[in-house]
Amino acid sequence: MLSADFLKLGAEIEMVNNSDADWFHLDVMDGRFVPNISYGMPIIAQMKKLATKTFDVHLMIEEPERYLEDFKKAGADYLTIHYETGYHLHRTLTSIRALGMKAGLAINPHTPVESVADLLPDIDLLLVMSINPGFGGQKFLPLTYNKIRKAKELINATGSNTLIEIDGGVTLDNVADIVAAGADVLVAGNTVFASLNPQDTIKRLKQLGK
Ligand code: ZN
Repeated sequence: MLSADFLKLGAEIEMVNNSDADWFHLDVMDGRFVPNISYGMPIIAQMKKLATKTFDVHLMIEEPERYLEDFKKAGADYLTIHYETGYHLHRTLTSIRALGMKAGLAINPHTPVESVADLLPDIDLLLVMSINPGFGGQKFLPLTYNKIRKAKELINATGSNTLIEIDGGVTLDNVADIVAAGADVLVAGNTVFASLNPQDTIKRLKQLGK
């Protein structure tokens, strides 16, 4: 939703409600963990009133453990924190689940997938950043393909049901390759909202990713 037109947010949410998309992906940025600042709890809570699909909230913020309850109240179904932000990730992930949300863990392009291997049983979602986080509209980093394949191997080896999510630079041209590498959930912002017919673009992304 970072790529949505915020002056027409209601219409943009209805567009997603009536599309083939499965989830809403919400990027929260604090201007510290990433250079940019986006939006926070009040906007997400407003959006939740109109939205009819799962809320996948991606926290690109320092000290995410301070805000877990606030994001639960705002309507997060999945709450994802970054590996690079924490000394006590296991505790934070456990708290997210204890609050009744699905726990997600995100890794930046420089973080090896192996770093999170021990945590896979404690997370529902592994978000592999395919760009450096902070802005929409960036190009997909090719190193991501190997990370997806490695993540899939680790998940299969542990027998966990963790989903692999890819965030950044997903387009009609690479969606099939990303899914073939093993990704389960794809985030598409700019590709959808900058297109002439967003609902048709979502439909095509889903078809190409089958
Ligand atoms: Zn995101």
